[in-house]
Amino acid sequence: MALRTILTVGDETLKKKCRPVTEFNDHLHTLLDDMTETLLESGGVGLAAPQIGILRRVVVLLDVNKDPEEVIELINPEVIEMNELEQTIEGCLSVPGKYGYVMRPTWAKIRAQDRNGNWFEREGEGIVAQCFCHETEHLDGHLFTEKVTEYVEVEQE
Ligand SMILES: [Zn+2]
Repeated sequence: MALRTILTVGDETLKKKCRPVTEFNDHLHTLLDDMTETLLESGGVGLAAPQIGILRRVVVLLDVNKDPEEVIELINPEVIEMNELEQTIEGCLSVPGKYGYVMRPTWAKIRAQDRNGNWFEREGEGIVAQCFCHETEHLDGHLFTEKVTEYVEVEQE
């Protein structure tokens, strides 16, 4: 496994639409392992492949509600269901130090493939539902800053 560099806002790669994954091979598995290592090192909740310069529809995230140690791998993910939107505070590893109010569902269901290409569905609440939306938007070249209604000061630990 290897740590990858996280791109930050201003890098054009973050604005590009990612291609679907079609081959579930060693190359993909290495990417997933590297993304997991990079995510865990970053202290973030989710990471999308374009954030490390790879234009493929791949996301890793932590299910912080169930088991903060469990990394969920989402290949070709799509949010297929969500409940009503509520205002919440959000940030992004690619937009360091900036936090703002966005509208997100408090519950969402995602459909994705695992590292072997098997489709599955998974539900998430709160920050996990928020992360499903945030990370899939990265795959279409969108950043949360496009949705921010107001920036807020958040104390850093
Ligand atoms: Zn992000």
